[in-house]
Amino acid sequence: MTQDCRQCGKCCEKWGWDQKGIPEDLEPWIADNRLDILSHVLVRFTDGGYRIAAGLTTSDLPRIDRIFYWVDPDGKKRSSCPFFERRDDGKVYCRIHDTKPAVCVGFAPWAAIWHDYGLNCPACRDTTP
Ligand code: SF4
Ligand code: SF4
Repeated sequence: MTQDCRQCGKCCEKWGWDQKGIPEDLEPWIADNRLDILSHVLVRFTDGGYRIAAGLTTSDLPRIDRIFYWVDPDGKKRSSCPFFERRDDGKVYCRIHDTKPAVCVGFAPWAAIWHDYGLNCPACRDTTP
């Protein structure tokens, strides 16, 4: 079923912690030197070490075991995404829309596998449980 996101921003506000990234998310950010994004990304390497993704190169990507969104530059988990912006029209916009991570691109709480009523997504209200 196709639904329209109402851009209420609830999911982006909630998504501060432990969302999982993939190395393909990081590739364009590294190529474009998007330190504004990479400084909010924590990575865990296969040897168990952690670091902020700012300063990584593509040669580091094969050693990554897990990617976490979103954190502050000191590595502390955030309680909300740093890139959402509520504008005068009342809607929430993604400041990195053109390059946002796959977990955000694919987010569809009205789809059966997600169906997140706990999020209270207004775009889900008309769907059949
Ligand atoms: S909670 Fe639902 S309607 Fe609101 S921004 Fe997220 S997906 Fe869109
Ligand atoms: S990156 Fe954009 S789409 Fe993803 S949680 Fe943040 S504001 Fe929302």
